[in-house]
Amino acid sequence: MRLSRAFQPTLKEVPSEAQIASHRLMLRAGLIRQTAAGIYAWLPAGLRVLRNIARIVREEQDAIGAQEVLMPTIQSADLWRRSGRYDAYGPEMLRLKDRHERELLYGPTNEEMITDLFGGAVKSYRELPQVLYQIQWKFRDEVRPRFGVMRGREFFMKDAYTFDADYEGAVKSYRRMMLAYLRTFQRLGVRAVPMVADTGPIGGNLSHEFLILAPTGESGVFYDAALEEQDWLSEPVDIDDSASLAAFFDKVTHFYAATDEKHDEAAWAEVPEGRRREGRGIEVGHIFYFGTKYSESMGISVSGPDGAPLYPEMGSYGIGVSRLVGAIIEASHDEAGLIWPDAVAPYKAAILNLKPGDSATDAVCERLYAAGAEIFLYDDRAERAGVKFNDADLMGHPWQMIVGPRGAKDGTVELKRRATGERFELSVEDALAKVL
Ligand code: ATP
Ligand code: MG
Ligand code: MG
Ligand code: MG
Repeated sequence: MRLSRAFQPTLKEVPSEAQIASHRLMLRAGLIRQTAAGIYAWLPAGLRVLRNIARIVREEQDAIGAQEVLMPTIQSADLWRRSGRYDAYGPEMLRLKDRHERELLYGPTNEEMITDLFGGAVKSYRELPQVLYQIQWKFRDEVRPRFGVMRGREFFMKDAYTFDADYEGAVKSYRRMMLAYLRTFQRLGVRAVPMVADTGPIGGNLSHEFLILAPTGESGVFYDAALEEQDWLSEPVDIDDSASLAAFFDKVTHFYAATDEKHDEAAWAEVPEGRRREGRGIEVGHIFYFGTKYSESMGISVSGPDGAPLYPEMGSYGIGVSRLVGAIIEASHDEAGLIWPDAVAPYKAAILNLKPGDSATDAVCERLYAAGAEIFLYDDRAERAGVKFNDADLMGHPWQMIVGPRGAKDGTVELKRRATGERFELSVEDALAKVL
């Protein structure tokens, strides 16, 4: 994309309600615009980040055998009356009426709908387990939408649901999902720590929240630093083998990690002092097992081994895809702007033309650009070099390929790594090889 043509309205002045770095930077870099309280439009660069995150989430869900569906955002109130949650959910639910006065709602989550879909399709315990997920917009009428996309009212969430024939099966499903989550967050370039969590109004007894450490987080967190040093991508786990899943799960959970709600001073005292990490965290994911809560209340069963009705054991598993954009920025930025992890960056590199109109400079830039028009942002604007440096730092591309008349004459490019500030003088070919 040529920056001279890009729809990327950067801002000099940031609205005063943007209190935290990620919100300010997302507005300044032209990633989002607010259209109503807690409701945002995603502009091209922001949408590219959102899609990159969703792609990685999707790949790791698929890797554990989950199947993707897409459910509507609008649901019928009657569906929620069947589980008893229509009245229980409270004012966070956006309630609507159609022209026939039928009661509808904008889905804040989808347990009821997926349970109903499952019930209409699956008839026998032999068809279990089933793991279904979607990546879809949700709406919660938060009392205080704030921090930009981190606590929006409309937000993008991956929600998965598992159906098993018995408790042992449900535990295996839960452990597979734990693995998928750890791998997802590691690939996103952030460390999200799994912490034992309250099951809350949804009930059940097996629940973990995943938190990214950041001073602006809303929860207090206590965890063993060893958890951040694990490499879950190379952890050998056979997802079809109970013993292998159990060994993996023991490894994760034997390290202390809890939010303030579940913090246990006695267990904390046993963590070696040098490894104790205490701070604040942002909830980016949440997994929980809740047994037959929905299958029973909604009367959804399959036929069991003895022919009697069997109520599937269920779990649900969320990842805040749009919240992650803000959370990643909270964990990865500096005074000058964004610092995108490679895996989620909207563009792999910016090409900075320091002298548009100079034929040698233009020629080198065009050669670079031709190698990746889809993945490079070419700053071809008639602006001063200083403006281009500042904007590239603000937008946080992992690499900057800087081309001025002097280097262009001998065919060299200055490559800058945004995260570390390292610089390299390279030929066009070597610069491309490093970036691609
Ligand atoms: P929170 O405690 O922040 O209100 P939650 O516990 O209500 O979140 P869940 O029901 O567990 O949220 O939903 C799964 C995920 O969806 C959360 O872990 C979070 O990442 C994301 N999420 C929840 N509410 C919002 C929101 N208002 N804006 C953006 N993302 C959200
Ligand atoms: Mg909430
Ligand atoms: Mg929560
Ligand atoms: Mg939660």
